[in-house]
Amino acid sequence: MEVSSPLLHGGLYDFCGVGGRERCRNGGVVRGNWQRSEAEAFYYLPFADLIFQSQSIHRRNFDPNHLEAASLLSIKTGGCSEDCGYCSQSAHYDTGVKATRLMDPDDVIAAAQRAKDCGAVRFCMAAAWLSPEDRDLDQVCNLVGAIKNLGMETCVTLGC
Ligand code: SF4
Repeated sequence: MEVSSPLLHGGLYDFCGVGGRERCRNGGVVRGNWQRSEAEAFYYLPFADLIFQSQSIHRRNFDPNHLEAASLLSIKTGGCSEDCGYCSQSAHYDTGVKATRLMDPDDVIAAAQRAKDCGAVRFCMAAAWLSPEDRDLDQVCNLVGAIKNLGMETCVTLGC
């Protein structure tokens, strides 16, 4: 049963197929012209309604039972110079996390291969940096290329 919502039926939630620029995988269009009032309407939705409407849109546009298996590795843990009180990676607090340098590329690639062998199609690399240096990014870019060469998709989260 479709939820009765002016947002949903007016197309405002329907990110595929309404007045944007970017193409979805299924040929629809991703909107890029969201208004503040529309964002507020999302924000104030009851959580269960938000989940239901999200599921409805997902089911219209994708295989509802397809799951992407992904693996995440912390390639540089802890020791971050930022002072985020909630984060176990911050060097400002005694969190019990042992700070490490950026992992050896061969070890990262081996971990990605193991993840692939276990069925992962995506490999994400996380690093605790406040502001990575160019040389750090060069190394991460090389890792992205190497992992793509394994036939996997990649993504990164490199600090905040
Ligand atoms: S910048 Fe990111 S990694 Fe560093 S302490 Fe803050 S949240 Fe943690």
